[in-house]
Amino acid sequence: MSTTILCGFKVSVAVLDAFLTANGLDETEGRPQYYPDHPDKDKISALLYKKIVSKAEAAAAGGSGSGSTASIDKNKFRVMMPSTEGMQHSFVAYVTYAWFTVYAHRELRVDEDLPAEIPTGFEELRKEILSFADPSRGVPESEKIGDEEGHMGLFVVYTYGYKGEYAPPWAYERNGPFKCDQCDAVFTGMMPWDRRQEHRIEVHGVKESRNPFPEG
Ligand SMILES: [Zn+2]
Repeated sequence: MSTTILCGFKVSVAVLDAFLTANGLDETEGRPQYYPDHPDKDKISALLYKKIVSKAEAAAAGGSGSGSTASIDKNKFRVMMPSTEGMQHSFVAYVTYAWFTVYAHRELRVDEDLPAEIPTGFEELRKEILSFADPSRGVPESEKIGDEEGHMGLFVVYTYGYKGEYAPPWAYERNGPFKCDQCDAVFTGMMPWDRRQEHRIEVHGVKESRNPFPEG
């Protein structure tokens, strides 16, 4: 499990699924998706990116956009869902234009991590997805989230392992070998991870605790 901080909009899973199926993809049915090979083989991310590029190109051709699609970063667009610990499916999803995942702790660089500027094409994508909330599209009202549908904001979402599960190295490789990242020393045998950390701290002056949590 990890926490994801994201910029984007909130949408009901029913409306999102209607958009996905209209574009030839499978419904998510509110199950948090895990794609280790995001963005290229993650079909939803690839669809979002394709839509944004084509909308930005259309805006540029019409003279109302910035005219550049080269700066559109395909890593930024993704569907995130809150984890419900396997008990039930999520009712809401988020579509992002910026996101990052936190395992344990991380410095928040507001300007880089949370850009104020919304990429060209993203608002048009939001409108296209929200068009599936129109009563004529047949999504039951009971499955929509009312005024929250399409709400833009900065959200913190407890997500299912979007970067995979974290376990410290000694948990899955108890006997090593573990390499020092500063010299050629290799540690095997008794408590190799602890000895590696001690070595790094004492020999190289690394400022870390004995068992640091990962950042980022
Ligand atoms: Zn060393």
